[in-house]
Amino acid sequence: MSQKSNVRVRFAPSPTGFLHVGGARSLLFNYLYAKKTNGTLVLRIEDTDQARSTRESERMIFEDIAEINLPSDESPIVGGPFPPYRQSDRMSIYADHAKQLLDRNMAYYCFCPEEELGRKRELALKLGKVPQYDGTCAGITIEDARARLKKGEKAGLRFRAFKKDYILKDIVKGDVSFQENVVGDFFITRTPREDEKEIADGIGMPVYNFCCVIDDHLMNITHVIRGDDHLSNTARQLQIYDAFGWELPTFAHIAMVLGSDRQKLSKRNGDSSVHEYLANGYLPQALLNFLVLLGWSTGAEIKTASGHPELFTMEEMISLFDLKGLQKSPAVFDVTKLQWMNSQYMRSLPLDEIYTRGLRFLEAEFGVDHVAAKSQEWLKRVVDLVRGESTLLSDLPKNIRPYFTGDAGTEAEAAELLKKPESAAVIGAVEASLAELAEPITSESIDAFQKKVGEKSGAKGKGLFMPMRAILTGKTHGPELKKSLPLFTKQQLMAQVQTRKAQSLT
Ligand code: GLU
Repeated sequence: MSQKSNVRVRFAPSPTGFLHVGGARSLLFNYLYAKKTNGTLVLRIEDTDQARSTRESERMIFEDIAEINLPSDESPIVGGPFPPYRQSDRMSIYADHAKQLLDRNMAYYCFCPEEELGRKRELALKLGKVPQYDGTCAGITIEDARARLKKGEKAGLRFRAFKKDYILKDIVKGDVSFQENVVGDFFITRTPREDEKEIADGIGMPVYNFCCVIDDHLMNITHVIRGDDHLSNTARQLQIYDAFGWELPTFAHIAMVLGSDRQKLSKRNGDSSVHEYLANGYLPQALLNFLVLLGWSTGAEIKTASGHPELFTMEEMISLFDLKGLQKSPAVFDVTKLQWMNSQYMRSLPLDEIYTRGLRFLEAEFGVDHVAAKSQEWLKRVVDLVRGESTLLSDLPKNIRPYFTGDAGTEAEAAELLKKPESAAVIGAVEASLAELAEPITSESIDAFQKKVGEKSGAKGKGLFMPMRAILTGKTHGPELKKSLPLFTKQQLMAQVQTRKAQSLT
């Protein structure tokens, strides 16, 4: 492996649920950029909101990331040169930095009760103003504050916001200006709740905007690629960089993913977790290919190995990806397109992959024992036969059912055809030739069988093939007989032919 470049990007999920598709897209863009530049992808767990964060959710996020196969180079699991990678394990670092700001009078204690802050916030909103702290505690001296803390009062620390304009040079948005006063004095640590133990005496509980900057700086992050719903956080984060005199990373705020109703994608307007998509039978490869096109484009039509300009292999995604291709306007999550993409991947991925991923859907439908009773070779052949007509992995069971049960049923069109007098000769020839068919049935023996039915019936072309297919499979269309018939036993084929023949006579 050639030497790593100095590009360092990060994905920083808050473990408050499953991995969201919007999060997966941020992860993908960061992953692609790291691969493309031979840089490093850091996975950091942002769990300072202890009321909402759980280890269970962290575990699920790791699992989903493993499923979609976007591994990071540094993380709480694999470690790395800037540990720890979980914010709840970095509390003393935040305490040190908070103290520095306090010592420099760049932060002050805020004793305002939560309810009072809430009331003021609501009032501002009612008056159509952006809620901003009114500075009630800004003048409390450090000595007075310490005396109050000693008496048992609780407080968080507020950053004394700089009164100046900031211009963010964003790769996607261009110059974003944050006017003086858009940001009021904001919490860098919040007031601890009764049951919470502070990280250090009188420091409070560090919050996202503060921790994020410290971590991005200490972890040498060079590019912050994240959703543009974070822009208002960026306004605060720029101030923290400024306070410490730290160099800014390059920011790329990517446009949101919207549901079909053009509202932010959520449970209401479509599935939103990666877990759910995978559980519903979507392939990770299709999901990633779909996600990369949400808010990013190659700019020009390009040649891909698939022959389709939007179907990329991971290698192609890496080589084509470029921050310049990130788009400003929100992308709409079009499930129909995702389904189409999935059906393409159902056909094009190696059979082993479809088989391995499809197995649990077959087991859920037919039972683990029933599936285990079939040979792997047989299972792979059926999966291969029906994958082309399956949009999702979860469509495999219904398409495979006839082979599992040995009975494909009879579609109306096929029943109609079999009732026609001119089909009688073919039906008779199929019956007779089937009796002579040796087992195991192979595609070669089906070739010979079809010839024999032709000779015996005297039928030709469509007049031969249509009724032959109808009596053997119960359908007038479908995969080649030499592929589908060997998946049944001779007994199963004979039984189906008898049933359909009896139906055709009624
Ligand atoms: N922890 C934040 C979130 O899950 C991400 C923050 C960031 O990327 O800066 O939304």
